Amino acid sequence: MRTKTALIHGGKTTDPLTGAVTPPIYQTSTYKQDGIGNLREGYEYSRSANPTRTALETLIADIEGGVQGFAFGSGMAAISTVLMLLKSGDHVIVGSDVYGGTYRVFNRVFQSRGLEATFVDTSDEAAVRDALQANTKMIYVETPTNPLLNVTDIRAMRQIADEADVLLVVDNTFMTPYFQNPIDLGADYVLHSATKYLGGHSDVVAGLVVARTEEQGEALAFLQNSVGAVLGPQDSFLVVRGIKTLAVRMEEIESNARALVEFLQSNESVSRVLHPSVSSEEAKRIHLSQARGFGGMIAFDVGSAEAAEMMVAKTKYFTLAESLGAVESLISVPARMTHASIPAERRAELGITDGLVRISVGLEDIDDLIEDLAQALTAIEQVKQ
Ligand SMILES: *Cc1c(COP(=O)(O)O)cnc(C)c1O
Repeated sequence: MRTKTALIHGGKTTDPLTGAVTPPIYQTSTYKQDGIGNLREGYEYSRSANPTRTALETLIADIEGGVQGFAFGSGMAAISTVLMLLKSGDHVIVGSDVYGGTYRVFNRVFQSRGLEATFVDTSDEAAVRDALQANTKMIYVETPTNPLLNVTDIRAMRQIADEADVLLVVDNTFMTPYFQNPIDLGADYVLHSATKYLGGHSDVVAGLVVARTEEQGEALAFLQNSVGAVLGPQDSFLVVRGIKTLAVRMEEIESNARALVEFLQSNESVSRVLHPSVSSEEAKRIHLSQARGFGGMIAFDVGSAEAAEMMVAKTKYFTLAESLGAVESLISVPARMTHASIPAERRAELGITDGLVRISVGLEDIDDLIEDLAQALTAIEQVKQ
């Protein structure tokens, strides 16, 4: 089954009881047993399993090419549960410009409970090797990163993970399984904030994980049930519905993004345009060796905090909001929004400047999107003069 077909026909999304083509919302917490422990279809209690969640979990496992999928109440719940695979005293190598919430959960939740973390630029293989310690148990990466769109070579990370005998975890939120399948490239666990492209309509908060092997699946299944940060049936239904149109949405977003990159690069008020399609030759080569598209996230610098603030105030089709990956285009200022929890000096080190503006490209008419950015950039120029 090819990807576009798997998005529609993958997993157990047809209801075995009625044949309903769309998975019904099984709004139930428990299931009648035919005698003690005699379960129908294995369902016992909805924290352990729920048929609507199973539809989503089997679907994401199929499209990411893993053995078992897991749905959580948010991307952060998914990430936190994966980190609970580790114990106090274990060490993790984490990408230096991962999602702000991921940085925060490592730094302020797990580190204070005995997990050690070293943040390194994972696009630098030597730096990752140098960061290995005797107690390293996991390498955790995003590629491309948010908001700087740095690219990490997933196969190279697999090689290091093999040499050191550690787990490789990849957050695939930005690329989606339509463009990139980290398990095929060697990841042990791939995870998603399904709040973004997979849900795709800004109407649900959810997280997904897929495990590469049976054993890794069992380890996570134990934690999902024990910790209990599961996704409810209504939200599972919404994510399944979102995934069905992922291919057409990503194709259109990709085409809009390319046009916007071209427009931004030709605009004099913009000093730096970040998108994997315009990164260094080396980064682009690596990206294209592991992904089938560049995605819809673009960052660009308008020079100052004031200009960035004005930019987001002036756009009318780019809605000022956190999040990304939906049908509507969104705009944000990472330094003051998604990445505000990262200390200012650290943001400066990373290159998350005050004038950096991030856009998540949506499905509007490309001419409206270009005109919208153009009028906002003109307004900034007028104030400067
Ligand atoms: C949004 C996001 C998360 C966190 O997901 P939530 O659903 O908001 O909890 C994690 N990683 C990346 C790359 C994200 O964009």
